[in-house]
Amino acid sequence: KLRFSDVTHRFGPLKAVDGLSLDLAEGEILCLLGPSGCGKTTSLRLAAGLEELQAGRIEIDGRVVAEPGRALPPEQRRVGMVFQDYALFPHLTVAGNVAFGLKHMTAGNRQERAMAMLARVGLTGRADVYPHQLSGGEQQRVALARALAPEPRLMLMDEPFANLDVTLRNSVRDETLSLLKGLGATVLLVTHDPEEAMRMAERIAVMQAGRLVQVGPAEEVYLRPADPFMARFFGPVN
Ligand code: ATP
Repeated sequence: KLRFSDVTHRFGPLKAVDGLSLDLAEGEILCLLGPSGCGKTTSLRLAAGLEELQAGRIEIDGRVVAEPGRALPPEQRRVGMVFQDYALFPHLTVAGNVAFGLKHMTAGNRQERAMAMLARVGLTGRADVYPHQLSGGEQQRVALARALAPEPRLMLMDEPFANLDVTLRNSVRDETLSLLKGLGATVLLVTHDPEEAMRMAERIAVMQAGRLVQVGPAEEVYLRPADPFMARFFGPVN
């Protein structure tokens, strides 16, 4: 479960997030959709604890994780994260990266889980290389495997499939979706791609200039866009 209550975030004079209130139910997959610069990434970073909260409140599973002046560090929020700059650990192999969050397991089990996760993202055979030896798309898949390996209850994902070509994107997206559903994870996924939101989400939250302009079931947002801007935004979906 994830809840934003009246969250506002400024960068200087700019209100990047403006009074955001949003509730994700346990096990729900919600896409945050909107044009570049509307505040999606900032919202996700606030939930992850990568940005200090200025106003409002954020709760995870009923626990307050951020209020102005009081914040739980990211590693204590028990969330999986996939961000645009994947930040793989350069000094660890691919398998080492995926196993990183599995400290509670024995070495043998960590290795086994890491290999199983790599197989799910189609990277068996790349386990022993280092991140700089991978393409951008491969790095993105390692980041996905790393985030999913500890089986997080809450997953925060920022354009997690953006660097993959179309064929690969569909298969990795389907695989990720089935993994997430299998885990019963609550997922907040940021995208600027309406088609991706339609494919992934049960509900879609549309953001514009820092504000939520519509939240609803995917079909409803698609069929009855809240305003002309949204209608244009959804135009190319088929
Ligand atoms: P994109 O899809 O392009 O990543 P977004 O919807 O995720 O966009 P944000 O990255 O949240 O948008 O940015 C919201 C606004 O805040 C933008 O106008 C951006 O330029 C600004 N912004 C984001 N981070 C910073 C920062 N560290 N300092 C100053 N302004 C920032």
